[in-house]
Amino acid sequence: MKRVYNFSAGPSMLPLPVLEKAQQELVNYADTGMSVMELSHRSSAFVEIIEEAEKLFRELLNIPEQYKVLFLQGGATQQFSMVPLNLMKKGKAAYIHTGSWSIKAIKEAKKYGDIDMVASSEDKNFSYIPQLENGKLDKSYDYVHITTNNTIEGTAFAAFPETGEIPLVADMSSNIMSEEIDITKFGVIYAGAQKNIGPAGLTIVIIREDLIGGARESCPVMLDYQTHSDKGSLYNTPPTFAIYMAKLVFEWLQELGGIKKMEKMNREKAKLLYDFLDGSSFFTSPVEKGSRSLMNIPFATKSDELNAAFIKEAKTAGLETLKGHRSVGGMRASIYNAMPIEGVQKLVDLMRDFEEKYR
Ligand SMILES: *Cc1c(COP(=O)(O)O)cnc(C)c1O
Repeated sequence: MKRVYNFSAGPSMLPLPVLEKAQQELVNYADTGMSVMELSHRSSAFVEIIEEAEKLFRELLNIPEQYKVLFLQGGATQQFSMVPLNLMKKGKAAYIHTGSWSIKAIKEAKKYGDIDMVASSEDKNFSYIPQLENGKLDKSYDYVHITTNNTIEGTAFAAFPETGEIPLVADMSSNIMSEEIDITKFGVIYAGAQKNIGPAGLTIVIIREDLIGGARESCPVMLDYQTHSDKGSLYNTPPTFAIYMAKLVFEWLQELGGIKKMEKMNREKAKLLYDFLDGSSFFTSPVEKGSRSLMNIPFATKSDELNAAFIKEAKTAGLETLKGHRSVGGMRASIYNAMPIEGVQKLVDLMRDFEEKYR
């Protein structure tokens, strides 16, 4: 069977044991005589799936009781609207601008209130995570928004800003479940599933209960957190198959030893690639060392021709989707939870050979 190492930024690799389990259960799920895709979302078989998915997700991330977990659709992009629609009561929010995704969140939020960009790394092409200076925040803000991992630029917050009483809202799409985090530091966490959780179509929101119920009058029913919270994410038909796949990924994570173990593996994987980049005079990384992402690692040679040649050689070697985002160029290796260390080792070996050949 052909399987490649897929370095795609999203949708991205899924663990092979998860795909195999889904394959095995596909046509006749748990002796129902149906696939999960054909089950009613009100059936006891599906209700068991969604309840188990939530239970495992809570256990893995150590989510306190006063937080709700919502299984939604619309992607992280829909959260760019849902967050201001639900949380902007005083009409003012603070955003930290760290790249292509944060600017989309900012543009959307501006439709609903006054947005202050309280820190930005635009001055250096988003190659670092900016510090939030003291005195930038006051009680007039409804929330502070950050993008914990910048999928395109390859940066990540090493420490989260202290926001005191002001709820911290995080787009965690590309590094949720990759390392241990303290959920209580956040008011809202959201993530599209297609990077570190499962297939596209599912978006998970973790929200502190007191932040639910404040949506403005004109908020569409489907964009009101209260709607989904009241109905246990079953107000309308949820993305049933994606939720089932996420459950299988959570089981895989738990079997592997949980997030603590996953973080250790992710650090080893990233170190392998960063150590090579640091020792290379041929490949370069655009990101400042203190701001490096464990998940998305952009790198480049000195010319577009060499970059293209590298991507071609990689493809031949079974290393796929290494082309960098068009706004950054070069290459990008997305090494989410499902990427085994063998894939990263193969990439580094190829980089070493390529450097020998072309330097
Ligand atoms: C992929 C991504 C998004 C967009 O997610 P969709 O699910 O496609 O809407 C937003 N933010 C970050 C950080 C991402 O990585």
